[in-house]
Amino acid sequence: MNHEGRESLMIRALLDLLFPPLCHACKGFIPDRRSINICDACLADVSFVVSPYCPVCGIPYPMDGGLDHLCGACSNDPPFDACRSAALLDGPVQELIHRFKYSGQVHLAVPLGRLVAECLKSFYVQAQPEVILPVPLHRKRLRQRGYNQSQMLGKVIGKVWGIPVLPTNLRRVRWTDPQTGMSAGERRTNVAGAFEVRNPAQLKGKRVLLVDDVLTTGSTVRACAAALYSAEVEAVFVATVARGIPP
Ligand SMILES: [Zn+2]
Ligand SMILES: [Zn+2]
Repeated sequence: MNHEGRESLMIRALLDLLFPPLCHACKGFIPDRRSINICDACLADVSFVVSPYCPVCGIPYPMDGGLDHLCGACSNDPPFDACRSAALLDGPVQELIHRFKYSGQVHLAVPLGRLVAECLKSFYVQAQPEVILPVPLHRKRLRQRGYNQSQMLGKVIGKVWGIPVLPTNLRRVRWTDPQTGMSAGERRTNVAGAFEVRNPAQLKGKRVLLVDDVLTTGSTVRACAAALYSAEVEAVFVATVARGIPP
């Protein structure tokens, strides 16, 4: 081992001593520092999204061994080119997202973003997006929360995959009510026309990837995609940490 290699190992050992690697979910000690720092027991509780699912919206089907097939909604009116989520919105992922979004634990952008980059690697290779657009917050919501969680996730994912993030081109121009408890139809009306592309020339002909923390009915990303297709992008893909199954 060369001098530099020995030095980085020593620095790593010193860091482990000063800041022992703890699981982000259960805070338990992890014997080895990893890129995501979630312990094996917590990872075992994550419901990773696996095939069979709808190849467009990515909704998983609750059966083993079936083939991927279009869901009813996507065979009528596909809202975007394709969407995938790393895991279902339950267990440790739900708890981490909640702490990340509502308790100001912004450091969780790193494990959550890396989880997406790791789980959706083959989706990224197939989709070949050229730019990442985080789903924007209305400026009033941004003031309330102090940060845009999707933008932070987008930065982590963009760094791993080596693609640029454009955080300000897509804008939320209309205030929308929180969508919890709304039906799919109500959500769609709630966000229709809420997004605007500021600089269409920057996106024209590009393959873009929208990044958000959670996708439930898809009404928000559908409204974003409509604005992006109007700006003549080549394709709209969506990646989210979690997938909430609509009520
Ligand atoms: Zn754990
Ligand atoms: Zn679908």
